[in-house]
Amino acid sequence: MIIILKSNLTLAKEEEIRKFLAKKQVEVIPVKRSDKTLLVVVGRFAELTKREVALHEYVDTIVEIDRPYKLASKSFKNINSEIKINGTTIIGGKEIVIMAGPCSVETKDQIREIAKEVKGAGCQILRGGAFKPRTGPYDFQGLGKIGLHFLKGAAKENKLAVITEVLDVREVELIEKYTDIFQVGTRNMQNYPLLSELGKSHKPVLLKRGMSATYKELLLAAEYILLGGNEKVILCERGIRTHVPETRFTLDLNAVPYLKHETHLPVVVDPSHGTGRANLVRAMSRAAIAAGADGLLIEAHLDPRKSISDADQAISTQELKKLVKEVKRIAVAVDRK
Ligand code: PEP
Ligand code: MN
Repeated sequence: MIIILKSNLTLAKEEEIRKFLAKKQVEVIPVKRSDKTLLVVVGRFAELTKREVALHEYVDTIVEIDRPYKLASKSFKNINSEIKINGTTIIGGKEIVIMAGPCSVETKDQIREIAKEVKGAGCQILRGGAFKPRTGPYDFQGLGKIGLHFLKGAAKENKLAVITEVLDVREVELIEKYTDIFQVGTRNMQNYPLLSELGKSHKPVLLKRGMSATYKELLLAAEYILLGGNEKVILCERGIRTHVPETRFTLDLNAVPYLKHETHLPVVVDPSHGTGRANLVRAMSRAAIAAGADGLLIEAHLDPRKSISDADQAISTQELKKLVKEVKRIAVAVDRK
């Protein structure tokens, strides 16, 4: 249950209703929204108490939620969330959004050249990792701060927005200065201190599904960010671990319509990690948009074989152009743009 307080209540009045609820043994977590405060109820409520709360003069409405995730659920918000990225691009609207770029930012020239191609292909957002979550500690770990600087410069030159991964709570403040969207990787989907910290930010967060996570676990992870007051969460299906050895992961496209049914949050798909094979990326991109995804996250490189990380799944920038053209046609067929 969520108690929505009347707009623009004074702090004293908010305190008053919190005390009233505490007396009735109703535990709540307050969530600040631009003009009003929500009180998310922890646990259950007696029928009688519920009626009393509903009649309280500071209460606007009470929303019943029949899911363990509350703020993320459709019972709380029944229209799709449209997430504005740096003013022009919207994720979750009619137009599908394509984020593309290398797995890792490698050099200043590499990211500048790729950015130009990404823009030319018709994508809106430039991806590139500067802090990389590598499986082995001896693998390239990313360029760090200088990589963020190269990435932002390349995006600016080409009027693209930026998405990059944040691995650690200690790097949130730094990355926030360079990025338009924080990416939380599959390995960090359940890093709850990181999610809570990102809940305090005003910048959008793209939350990748853990490689063994259920849909419920993904939605509950999103709830940690939403509970901090950050409404701008984008979910991302990026493939799960299955018994199939021929692909790196199994792209679970069931996730798209399932999540769309359960939540108002936008859902995007990463077919690069989801397949691990460059020659499967275009087909699975088309399938993702046909299934109702709001966008794609694609790894592309000028010379994929030379990619320092994830070379097997990177597509060339020529292939990216073809991909964008094709998915735009699919988008129109499913009443998107
Ligand atoms: C990435 O996008 O480069 C990445 C590391 O993704 P994931 O967290 O899905 O493995
Ligand atoms: Mn990668």
